[in-house]
Amino acid sequence: MQPPVSSCVFCRIMAGLEPASFVYTDELAAAFMDINPVTRGHALVVPRAHVVDIYEASDELAAAMFVVAARLARAMKGALGCDGVNFWMANEPPAGQVVMHAHLHVIPRYVGDGFGLRRGSTGRASRAELDELAQRLSRALEAKR
Ligand code: 5GP
Ligand code: ZN
Repeated sequence: MQPPVSSCVFCRIMAGLEPASFVYTDELAAAFMDINPVTRGHALVVPRAHVVDIYEASDELAAAMFVVAARLARAMKGALGCDGVNFWMANEPPAGQVVMHAHLHVIPRYVGDGFGLRRGSTGRASRAELDELAQRLSRALEAKR
């Protein structure tokens, strides 16, 4: 069931009620920059509709999210010069899910980061920095399609 838009931060972002630095949107999914990046370029892929986690997502929605994540990964490799890309989904609070609207973390990995899937955030990024990264990724994503 759809919660009231006001109770979910990602629904508020999708409704344009909260600012976000968008990289991509289509009918089913969207991607925007994480406000507390683990590494430079950390983005989130979210379904447009409210589903709590991957267990609630239809096959169609799950596929749409992973397609966007794959496109983002290619864009990151090209536009950010990262060494690789980690995908991360918490799915349920015991695994670290804080925002209860499904989201796939797409996290650039740079030389020296190691292969750990999840580390702490480097702190809150400025909107200007997130907008600049989102524009670069968006351009790279368009160019690859
Ligand atoms: P979780 O811990 O639930 O897997 O991840 C939630 C993620 O959402 C965190 O990485 C956090 O930084 C990010 N986040 C939380 N609130 C906002 C927000 O208002 N805007 C954006 N862009 N990211 C957010
Ligand atoms: Zn939501």
